[in-house]
Amino acid sequence: MQLELLDTDTQKNANKRRVMKPVDIWPADVFVYDDDGTELPEMGEMECPECGHNDGWWYFKDMNEMQAGIPCPKCNQVEVCS
Ligand SMILES: [Zn+2]
Repeated sequence: MQLELLDTDTQKNANKRRVMKPVDIWPADVFVYDDDGTELPEMGEMECPECGHNDGWWYFKDMNEMQAGIPCPKCNQVEVCS
């Protein structure tokens, strides 16, 4: 069953991966930096148009990155490492 992960279906899903989009946008209220030290001055409330999952506020380095969206953890079944 593990081999199915390498199937072409996976490729198709990757192409139309579901992403959360900003439903509210604000300038960042605090100085936030990513792991590379890049400032993230834009803040967006991210919500999935597919399943309605709201992941709260995320910080982005620019609007392009925000509009590109964040993969939805519910639709994409991201496994939580804990
Ligand atoms: Zn979703």
